[in-house]
Amino acid sequence: MTLNRVRPTEAEANILLDAQRDYIKRGNTSIKCPRCGKSLEYRCRESGETILCIRDGCISVDTRGI
Ligand SMILES: [Zn+2]
Repeated sequence: MTLNRVRPTEAEANILLDAQRDYIKRGNTSIKCPRCGKSLEYRCRESGETILCIRDGCISVDTRGI
């Protein structure tokens, strides 16, 4: 797991990873951004997966191989 430049704390990263697990399991999540309270978005690409806040530049976590 790599954290990108919008660096979350460990607690924030754990919240985003919980949301990512919801997306993978059910296709959505009720978990909100721990910083601003907006929705979180999940993106899956060839290079890896990203869970991020819909507010630009707020917070995001990139994961690979989960
Ligand atoms: Zn946010």
